[in-house]
Amino acid sequence: MPAEPIPLTTRIVTLASRPDGRPTPANFGLAEAPVGEPGPGQLVVRNAYMSVDPAMRGRMQPTEKHYTTNFTVGGPLDGSAVGRVIASRALGFGVGDFVRHRLGWRDYAVVDAAAATRVDPALAGLPTWLGVLGQTGFTAYVGLRRIGEMRHGDAVFVSAAAGAVGSAAGQFARLLGASRVIGSAGGPDKARILVDELGFDEGIDYRAGLAAGLAAAAPDGIDLYFDNVGGEILDACLARLAMRGRIVLCGAISTYNDRGGVSGPSNYRNLIVMRGRMEGFIILDYVDRFPQAQAEIAGWLATGQIKSAEHIVEGLDRAPDALNLLFTGGNIGKVIVRV
Ligand code: NDP
Repeated sequence: MPAEPIPLTTRIVTLASRPDGRPTPANFGLAEAPVGEPGPGQLVVRNAYMSVDPAMRGRMQPTEKHYTTNFTVGGPLDGSAVGRVIASRALGFGVGDFVRHRLGWRDYAVVDAAAATRVDPALAGLPTWLGVLGQTGFTAYVGLRRIGEMRHGDAVFVSAAAGAVGSAAGQFARLLGASRVIGSAGGPDKARILVDELGFDEGIDYRAGLAAGLAAAAPDGIDLYFDNVGGEILDACLARLAMRGRIVLCGAISTYNDRGGVSGPSNYRNLIVMRGRMEGFIILDYVDRFPQAQAEIAGWLATGQIKSAEHIVEGLDRAPDALNLLFTGGNIGKVIVRV
C-alpha cells in the first residue's frame, strides 16, 4: 500500500466557550494545528468518520463529574473515530489499515497503536464500527444482558428508541426473547419507524403523552426498562414497573442541558412495592466483554437479524450541528460525521 504524505496541519474542532443550556455554534471553534510526527508505537490516521455522543455535553462543563476527561476552553474536542492509517511506526499495523481510536473531531490524528483497534471494512461499513459494532452496540448489549439481567419473556421498554443505543437495545431485546418490545420516540413519524423498520411491537410518541400509551402497550407492567432519557419518562416507567422489574440507567439526556438542579423521580417508592431494582452503568467498565459482544452482534448483523441505523452528517465543520441533533431529536440511529 503506497504511503500518503503526512500533512503539516489538520483542522480540529475546539471548545470556544462553555454552553449555558443547549450548545450553540458559538461554543465551538475550528482551528488549524500541527499534525506532528509519529513516535515509536504510533500511527498517523486520516479520520473517515467520527462518533457524536451525548457524553460530549457533560465533558463541556468544567465541573461535571464524568467518566473521562472534561474539555478545556480553547482546547480540542475528542471522541471515537475510524480512519485509515497513512503512516505507521507500530508493529502489527500497516499503511492502509483501518482503525478505531479516540481522537476524532479532527481530520488527522497521531494515535498510540495500543489505544487503537483494527476494524474490517469488509465485515461492515466503517460507520457501523461506531454504531452497533462500536460502543453504541456494546452499551445496548451490556445494559440489557448484564445490568438488566434480561430474561426470556420480559416485556421491555426502551426510551429514545429511535436513537443509536435505543434502536440497538430494542432490536437486541427482541432477539434475546422479549415477549414485547415497546419504544418511545419524539413525534409520530419516529414512533412509526420503531415498528415499521426496527421491529418494535409498539412505538409511542412520548410528546403526545406516555402514560396512556404505556398502560395500553404493557398492561401487565414493564419487566425491563432501558432508560436513555431520565426525567418524566423514567418517572412514568417507575409507576408501571412489573413485579421484580429492573430499570437500567443508561443515560438521562432529557436533563443534560438543564441549568438548575435535576429533580428526582417521585414514583421511586414503587421499587419497594414491586421489589424492583434500578442500576446505572458506564460502558467503559466492561471493555473485557467487547470481543464476545462484538462477535454476537456481528453475527446478527451478518444474518440480517438486526439493522444498523446510522444518521450521517457531512463535514467536520458541521459537527456542532450534528451534536445538536441529539438534543432536538433530529436523528434516527447513530449520529456520525463524515470527516
Ligand atoms: P441518541 O441517538 O439516542 O440521541 C439522543 C436522543 O435522545 C434524541 O434522538 C432524542 O430522541 C432523545 N431526546 C433528546 N432530548 C430529549 C428529551 N428532553 N426528552 C426525551 N428524549 C430526548 O443518543 P445515544 O444513543 O448516543 O445515547 C442515548 C443515551 O445513552 C444518552 O443518554 C447517553 O448519554 C447514554 N449513553 C450511556 C452510556 C453509558 O456508558 N452509560 C454510553 C453511551 C450512551 P427523541 O426524538 O425520541 O426525543
